[in-house]
Amino acid sequence: MLSVANLNASYGAARILYDLSLEVGRGEVVSLMGRNGAGKTTTMKAIMGLIARAGTVHFDGSDISRLKPFEIARLGLGFTPEDRRIFSDLTVLENLDIGRQPLRTFRDGTAAPHWNETKLLSLFPNLGEMPDRPGGQMSGGEQQMLTIARTLMGNPLLILLDEPSEGVAPLIVEQIADTIIELKKEGVSVLLSEQNVHFAQLVSDRAYVLEKGQIQWSGTMAELANNAGVQRSYLTM
Ligand code: ATP
Repeated sequence: MLSVANLNASYGAARILYDLSLEVGRGEVVSLMGRNGAGKTTTMKAIMGLIARAGTVHFDGSDISRLKPFEIARLGLGFTPEDRRIFSDLTVLENLDIGRQPLRTFRDGTAAPHWNETKLLSLFPNLGEMPDRPGGQMSGGEQQMLTIARTLMGNPLLILLDEPSEGVAPLIVEQIADTIIELKKEGVSVLLSEQNVHFAQLVSDRAYVLEKGQIQWSGTMAELANNAGVQRSYLTM
């Protein structure tokens, strides 16, 4: 679904990503792991075209390397940023409405999962209890769920989820994990940025481990679980 080859990105003169390559297959959940500052958010922004980048990015068979962010989003690549950009004066339902986009099909013609308010409010029971609450009156974890739900209103084929468990209460972390597992069942692919090995192991098929903007290791979650050296060197335990 997503194929990134030799991605390089800089902020001004500061080079951040070095020849980064990764793949996410259809229906796969893949974690991009690494400590603070490793380059996870930068990778996601570079894939979405939000920052200047070099290298190639293919999505569902299309070359998106030179497309603008809104063109990439229109092809069905969803992005949930770490900093929860909900509209604080709008209610849960109004926030969801803003994310609404047309139904999509994969390149091979099969229908992509279709989301609506009813389905999403049952997927996120906490949101289902507060459909009319303004976003600004919700906890950080609830805002995180709303951000993910709003991205799903765009019926994405693949979603980039930037550190969804960061700073969120344990009960909500569990619900977010359940959601990712449900997305996989529905056929949505996920590239998840994550520091927490436990959370990544709950939901992912494979992982790439990043440090200083370079992939240092990649493998299955079972291989990562058995590799204490990689965990110690590059990850938060
Ligand atoms: P975190 O978990 O803290 O978000 P991360 O792995 O997502 O970490 P990035 O946010 O991608 O890491 O940051 C990678 C590097 O880029 C860091 O050294 C960071 O200081 C630098 N950086 C991030 N944003 C900018 C910016 N707007 N301007 C300059 N440097 C930046």
